[in-house]
Amino acid sequence: MSSDPYGWIAESLAAIHKANWYRSPQPIAGRAGAKINLQGQLLLNFGSNDYLGLAADPRMIAAAIAATQEFGTGSTGSRLITGHRDLHRQLEQAIAQLKQTEDALVFSSGYLANLGAIAALVGKKDLILADHYNHSSLKTGAKLSGATVLDYSHLNLVDLAAHLEQERSAHRRCLILTDTVFSMDGDLCPLPELLAIAAEYDCMVLVDEAHATGVMGATGAGCVEQLGCSRQPLIQMGTLSKALGSLGGYIAGSAELIDYLRNRATSWIYTTGLSPADTAAALKAIAIVQQDPARRQQLWQNVGQIKQGLGQIFSQIRPDFKLLPSESPIVCIQMPNPASVLQASQSLRQDGIFAPAIRPPTVSTSRLRLTVMATHTPADCQYLLAHLTASFSSG
Ligand SMILES: *Cc1c(COP(=O)(O)O)cnc(C)c1O
Repeated sequence: MSSDPYGWIAESLAAIHKANWYRSPQPIAGRAGAKINLQGQLLLNFGSNDYLGLAADPRMIAAAIAATQEFGTGSTGSRLITGHRDLHRQLEQAIAQLKQTEDALVFSSGYLANLGAIAALVGKKDLILADHYNHSSLKTGAKLSGATVLDYSHLNLVDLAAHLEQERSAHRRCLILTDTVFSMDGDLCPLPELLAIAAEYDCMVLVDEAHATGVMGATGAGCVEQLGCSRQPLIQMGTLSKALGSLGGYIAGSAELIDYLRNRATSWIYTTGLSPADTAAALKAIAIVQQDPARRQQLWQNVGQIKQGLGQIFSQIRPDFKLLPSESPIVCIQMPNPASVLQASQSLRQDGIFAPAIRPPTVSTSRLRLTVMATHTPADCQYLLAHLTASFSSG
């Protein structure tokens, strides 16, 4: 028998092309920001996770350069062997202080934080209850853990409680997993109510604050702070790569939890420590979040301007398009089909605006997804609204 064991790859790629699901990365030139140079075109950027505009902030760049000068480029080993620096500990303490938890642990990415923590917390005898719209890293972590995984419908606590009533007693530990700000919709998890159900059924809760840290809450600590749950027993995960403009992820919680994860989370134990540059940049970002609340206020002012403008457009021009419910800087315009959302995205692109079309299978309904930044000017927001008004009127 002679066959090519790799032949299936070309076939799979062809199938991806045929379904119109093929994607490839496009290079951005120069620094990240509210304006980006994408393949030679200067675009107003409404597709970034850099909510506070810190990824190219001179203070962040200076901190990363200084740490590189002092410690070098790589951390050279895993944290438990030779890759641990005092800088890592400073960052973990800063995260714990921001989050009002006893301790925190920094991973090489948010994705790895979720994989490592979930697989360390539950196993074969256990149960995971997960919001159906959770991020890929929560879903993959759940699968990896070997626990029985049940999805409840999005934000539906009645469904969650029903699953628990039926399944909880047949399992040892139970872990509830949820995003706090949902990344493809921008809506929020009803955390106080969810925590009450968790307490009733003896469940641990891990919340993913990737899109909330630095953005939500009075001090920028996240949704947990905004919803008044900081003092509750729970496991808070987040990333250093979105509003904090760096790279890496973290788990924050009790000192015992963190101590346990340092001994059991394989995606932390068996991987190289975060680079000095990334660590120093994240540490600087947390200082900026805490010392400069005006940045966050500017972000929310921009969010308000865009949501109000969009509301007017929909009531007056396009009642068939729908602004999805959002309480975050993620603002989604739902459209009837993938073609209409692709066309809207392309027409904005011609007008110098980057706003990605998000389609199935990533989400169940097609939408234009706008993310607002603190470094958008009121004129930038106005430009977006004017061009949406024009393109929706003609479309
Ligand atoms: C981005 C994201 C992650 C992963 O974080 P990285 O640091 O980019 O790996 C996890 N969860 C959610 C909800 C995210 O949006």
